Amino acid sequence: MYHTILVPIDISTPELTQLVVPHVKAQVSLNDTARVHFLTVIPIFPYYASLGLAYSPEAPDNEMIRSEALSQLTEAIKPFNIPKSRMETHLATGSPKDRILGLAESIQADIIIVASHRPSMATYLLGSNAAAIVRYAKCPVLVIR
Ligand code: ADP
Repeated sequence: MYHTILVPIDISTPELTQLVVPHVKAQVSLNDTARVHFLTVIPIFPYYASLGLAYSPEAPDNEMIRSEALSQLTEAIKPFNIPKSRMETHLATGSPKDRILGLAESIQADIIIVASHRPSMATYLLGSNAAAIVRYAKCPVLVIR
């Protein structure tokens, strides 16, 4: 039984979120005290940033991007149907894998539940974020295919 469950959500691919819903619900139903932490990371691509194309943390529209991401996250997690008192939402900026692993440590996650990769990337066994989470997380990782 897992108490602290981390579920990273890529808001740009709702079909991945759909995949993990039944598995998260199943874990929550096993434990009355389980808490689910949803995290979405707004990626910053160093390559674009070096061209001056990505927003920087000081850019004036940063707040707008954050609030839009947060409202999309709120929308994306509705199908999980977790009572508000038993979940938390988190928003971060940077490298998704680093931020996911970082949050897992700081909340002392007991398990991380992720989808393996975008269905359109049929040739991958594991997407780059999922692979890094499996490799470096200090807790169990449930990968949904
Ligand atoms: P792909 O490269 O095919 O998109 P990923 O490894 O990036 O595969 O995605 C697998 C899982 O990683 C997603 O289901 C999600 O749980 C997590 N993930 C990926 N990107 C993000 C993100 N920006 N924020 C939060 N979680 C993410």
